[in-house]
Amino acid sequence: MALGRIKWKNLFRILDWKQVVVCTLLCLVLLALILLNLYELMTLGQENTYRNCQNNYLVASREIGDFLRVADESIEFSSQRIEEMLAGGATHEEILAYMTRESANLNSRIAGPTTGVYGYIDGVYLDGTGWEPIEGYEPMKRPWYIGAVAAGGEVTHVPPFMNFQTGSTTITVCKVLSDGVDVVAMDLPTDKLQAVVDGIAEQDSFYKSGGESPYSYAQILVLDSDGVVIAHTDTTQVGMNYAASEDPVAREIARQAFANDETLFRVEGEDAVIYCSGKLDGKWCILSGLEYSKVMSRITRNIVISTVVSILGILGMVTVMARLAIRRYLAETDRMTGINNRSGEEKVSRLLRAGQEGLFLLIDVDKFKSINDTFGHDVGDKALIAVAGALKAAFGKKNLIMRLGGDEFAAFAVGVTGEPEASEVVRRLFDEIDAIAVPEMGKRKLAVSVGAAFYHSGDDISFSTLYKRADKGTYESKKIVGNHVTYYSA
Ligand code: GH3
Ligand code: MG
Repeated sequence: MALGRIKWKNLFRILDWKQVVVCTLLCLVLLALILLNLYELMTLGQENTYRNCQNNYLVASREIGDFLRVADESIEFSSQRIEEMLAGGATHEEILAYMTRESANLNSRIAGPTTGVYGYIDGVYLDGTGWEPIEGYEPMKRPWYIGAVAAGGEVTHVPPFMNFQTGSTTITVCKVLSDGVDVVAMDLPTDKLQAVVDGIAEQDSFYKSGGESPYSYAQILVLDSDGVVIAHTDTTQVGMNYAASEDPVAREIARQAFANDETLFRVEGEDAVIYCSGKLDGKWCILSGLEYSKVMSRITRNIVISTVVSILGILGMVTVMARLAIRRYLAETDRMTGINNRSGEEKVSRLLRAGQEGLFLLIDVDKFKSINDTFGHDVGDKALIAVAGALKAAFGKKNLIMRLGGDEFAAFAVGVTGEPEASEVVRRLFDEIDAIAVPEMGKRKLAVSVGAAFYHSGDDISFSTLYKRADKGTYESKKIVGNHVTYYSA
């Protein structure tokens, strides 16, 4: 892979090590932030799932509790009243009249239609809604009667069964009176309970966020004391007995739900589902479930997408930074020698404007044309590259060196303000020039003519003036054979 004309592996040579370190650190910090963020998201996702599950449970238990409690209290109240009426010698007609009044009452107290209060009193079936039993109807063989008697005086709920009157499944709230024979009952249509359950699931954010089927993520279910599903967001489950189910997952749900109150547990079926369950008046179990693995896989998918996007972002940023660095390098560098091109002049200008003192040197190779003529242009190139190498060695990294064009070079020795120091710098340069050995040139030596001009703080001169001063020196030096330097003097 190449960035423009520069190969990746050469990038490190072009870039300043400081830039590479800063860029690497930046990338590492960004990566660390992304990882931290992912961890946070994952933890939050998990916590959110649990909290969501618990919230659903709390809402369900409150709403369903309210719904059932009103029915329980009504039956408790009605049975007490009928008991009193019986004790007071009330007739069937009087009791029926009471049931009729009470049924009308109940319809307004418990939202939605109920079948009202009915019962088997003193050997007669009485119904407050006015329903006439069909041919062959035997009250004592109905589940509500059997259930109430079995509960022995406690208000009890009979699992859903087909109501002959309404044609829908109902839960019956019933109670046997103190004689152990008379029973007062009231029906609650399961659709009302189902509506409560559906309403809660619909409010659930995971439900809302979608899935293959409407209830694929969140589920609310109600089990009666026998483990029969009274209401479920998945209506196909209604009526199933979880406690006696052949499905181990259903059995496990019922087992956990009945073993503990107000508990959070996890059931591994086809998918892992977490449940929050609790008991209502110690009898009904209300459960809220969230398909943990589905929710988490959804969260994981989002996390993976955001990670990939972030990493691509970092890579993009690094590439843009590298391209900018390369573009600047190419614009500022003399391709043949690898040192600054004329851009070096602007860099010196900037130093001068910042008040940086120093020594400016113009360096021109002597009789360079003849090197080209004698040894060829390629050897001339090698000689120029060697001169640039000599400048690098003599001036080091803290000073500026540049090739202004042809065989003309320049240097700015930072902080050199006096001749003794300057002559030391120039001596190093001449030593390096002397040491140049281009094999193709045999014994032919290179020599340079140097013009030198100081820039002292407070000198109100531009770069071009400094250049002209040094140029005068170069001109003078050209008159002398061999390496020579001439300092500018006013
Ligand atoms: P002087 O001693 O007066 O400096 O004479 P000189 O021969 O060095 O002449 P001058 O500095 O005026 O000319 C520089 C020559 O360098 C002119 C040109 O042919 C040659 N030259 C310029 N650029 C390149 C280059 O990139 N490669 C090579 N091989 N030669 C170059
Ligand atoms: Mg020359």
